[in-house]
Amino acid sequence: MSILVVGSVAFDSVKTPFGNVDDVLGGSATYFSTSASYFTDVRLVAVVGTDFPDEHVEMLKTRGVDVEGLRKVPGKTFRWRGYYEYDLNQAHTLETQLNVFSGFDPDIPESYRDCEYVFLANIDPVLQLKVLDQVRNPKLVACDTMNFWIEGKPDELRKLLKRVELFVINEGEAREFTGESSLVKAARKILDMGPSTLIVKRGEYGALMFNARSVFSALEDIFDPTGAGDSFAGGLVGYLASTGDLTEENFRKAMIFGSVMASYNVEAFSLGRLGSLDIEDIRSRYNDFKRLTHFEDL
Ligand code: AMP
Repeated sequence: MSILVVGSVAFDSVKTPFGNVDDVLGGSATYFSTSASYFTDVRLVAVVGTDFPDEHVEMLKTRGVDVEGLRKVPGKTFRWRGYYEYDLNQAHTLETQLNVFSGFDPDIPESYRDCEYVFLANIDPVLQLKVLDQVRNPKLVACDTMNFWIEGKPDELRKLLKRVELFVINEGEAREFTGESSLVKAARKILDMGPSTLIVKRGEYGALMFNARSVFSALEDIFDPTGAGDSFAGGLVGYLASTGDLTEENFRKAMIFGSVMASYNVEAFSLGRLGSLDIEDIRSRYNDFKRLTHFEDL
């Protein structure tokens, strides 16, 4: 089953303690689509400027991503500049240029509107809502966001969450959004806003899944963390869509696939590693995770 994704397609300039790059391919929708493309069909909705090279679009096409909904308009592509210190869990934003995204009014291609799986990757919640308004009867709507939107558009974000089943967010952002230092309290507050499942990403400490009944935890390994959250979400929702199974058991497996994709993504800048995996790589790391987290009964 295919996934419709809206989010940023960007040029990133990133500095980590291990190196730096300028104007490389990035963006929440780019990382998500590439990651999810290993599991199922992906239909991308986003906008880029005339400075966006065709080779990047070709890379997405090579991964099988449907780019009919990727518009190229006059102007400059979205740009993000940031850095990480040795604590790779915390991204520091130096500059966000929305550029062509500031005037973007998404018009979802007719062929995308029946997608049963919708992922609203990190972008303006107003745009996320506009996309949601145009899809018919989705089986699962999932979304991500970041501090930029939590601080800039909190009311729109709350409105969006009423219509979302699965919310995927960073630990620090969950605390900031709810004004709670306790993660458990923050999770409860977020679940009260609408989503039936919340996944809190904790960088190298893995991810936690909360729903009304339980908490489940998965581990994750780390180099350049940019895109880790989006590739995590790509593996997670990609696996759910490929199986069409939304039981809690399957959500647990999907979280491990999310962690597998994120752990590959962080091994190189940009799409350097994530763009060139094969199914065997994914399978073998899944099994590594299993061995790592398996323990015997008493
Ligand atoms: P993450 O998976 O959280 O590391 O997301 C990294 C990606 O988010 C980068 O490739 C950026 O281009 C993109 N990004 C950064 N800030 C924003 C923003 N305010 N809105 C949408 N995308 C963003």
